[in-house]
Amino acid sequence: MLAESLPVSNLAFFSQTFVIYEKRDLLADKICKTIHQYNKELLSPEDMGKLQEIADDYCKVKNYVYQRYGGIKSISKLYPGYTVQNEMTSAGLRAQLNMPSVYFYLAVFEALGDIKTQWAKVKNDILAAINKNERFTPQDKHYLRFVIKISDCFEKIINGKTIEVSGEMAEQYARIIADRSGGKAIDSDNLNRYLRRQVRRKLRSLHTEKADGFAITERAYRYGVHENKKGVFLSTKEKRKRIFVPLTDENEYRKQLYIKLLPEKSGIEIAVPIEVKVRQHEDYQKEIGLSVGVWQMFTTDSGNVYGERLGELNRKRVDFLEAADRSYRREKKNNPGREKYKAHKQRLDAGFETYVNQEINRMIAQEKPSVIYIPRLPNGTSAGHNRRINYAMSVWKRGFIRERLTLKCRENSIEIVEVIGKAISTQCSMCGAQGKYEKEKFCCHVCGYEADKKMNAARNAISRGRTGQRLNSVYVPREETRKVVHV
Ligand SMILES: [Zn+2]
Repeated sequence: MLAESLPVSNLAFFSQTFVIYEKRDLLADKICKTIHQYNKELLSPEDMGKLQEIADDYCKVKNYVYQRYGGIKSISKLYPGYTVQNEMTSAGLRAQLNMPSVYFYLAVFEALGDIKTQWAKVKNDILAAINKNERFTPQDKHYLRFVIKISDCFEKIINGKTIEVSGEMAEQYARIIADRSGGKAIDSDNLNRYLRRQVRRKLRSLHTEKADGFAITERAYRYGVHENKKGVFLSTKEKRKRIFVPLTDENEYRKQLYIKLLPEKSGIEIAVPIEVKVRQHEDYQKEIGLSVGVWQMFTTDSGNVYGERLGELNRKRVDFLEAADRSYRREKKNNPGREKYKAHKQRLDAGFETYVNQEINRMIAQEKPSVIYIPRLPNGTSAGHNRRINYAMSVWKRGFIRERLTLKCRENSIEIVEVIGKAISTQCSMCGAQGKYEKEKFCCHVCGYEADKKMNAARNAISRGRTGQRLNSVYVPREETRKVVHV
């Protein structure tokens, strides 16, 4: 019962935003971040329907592009993409769908982007397989890496055509082919066959069932005022008819946005990609340990608490959701409106999110950390006494809070290190023995150490991190920001 009322869609969306963010190339001192705008009032079913129409068409166009250009034969058309654009113009699909051109081409380019991303991933996977393959000589590997890197070679090979390399590359290619340092010449036919086999195995056909949003450029939207409310006008499929959506903030942007539809909330979420300069703080020197809780969001190794009201706010959400669910079931046959419910839920969610953001900011500003050690708890451990809250909380904890924290750390060049979370609350941070806790207090029967349970766990997080019991670095500044990440 509770599961249905949980904001799983929110979580899914936040992680999706995160993927978009990861997909982008990270520059040396800038990161891409997505900020959101929300509808202030619920959208009418008619307006929601008009937006849904665009999203449905958008999805159809993407699938068409996936199908037509996602295969091996089309790889040469992907760069720079004009061929695809021209072919899509003459394909007649736009007229058939009666879709505004601005949406149509954005869908085409989004799908093309996905196809390119997939090719990058296929190439990376093949390179990894080559590195691990012990049957290949160093000369073989050299050849394969070269032809994968030079797109023209790669395209010819996977389409079974003869390689022609020109210019500087020709010399290099000739040298690789003629390399006999391994005792014999490389068998390029055989290696090309290997490459084709790998591509066939790793290239998947792309398809999406998701019709929950679309990209939009300035040609199709305008910020403005309507009936004394600030908001945004969005183009629909009807000529010269824009719908107006009042927004909760008054910010205006001039760039490509993404409109995410939230039909169950009668709302939209506008994603705005912005570039943020990564801040370097000379005075952020401290290594801290954090313990993440259901009632108190963070406790540091020195006992500072942030997000003290987390459990209370969450309890309000859960109470409301459950009460609403009960009354909905009771009144079902009277067909009650859910508008009030949706509006209230949206307010609670927004309040919760704002609180989490504020408390993360406060923690960073006060602690000034250079590294944060944080335990990763094994799945299914729900410390605490209230399963109901714990369950609802874990959805947030694993998603929203973690992602917000990671983002804020990226923005401030703070490293996050996940450490092994097993038995982190029962180990004594003073002597390492297994102790136990009663309510909020930890006691060690070996050395007599007593401390707040959460603080003890946070102290363990630091020492586990420093002694190499790390799982992974969620985010390492500098090194990673220079790297181009293909996901
Ligand atoms: Zn002890």
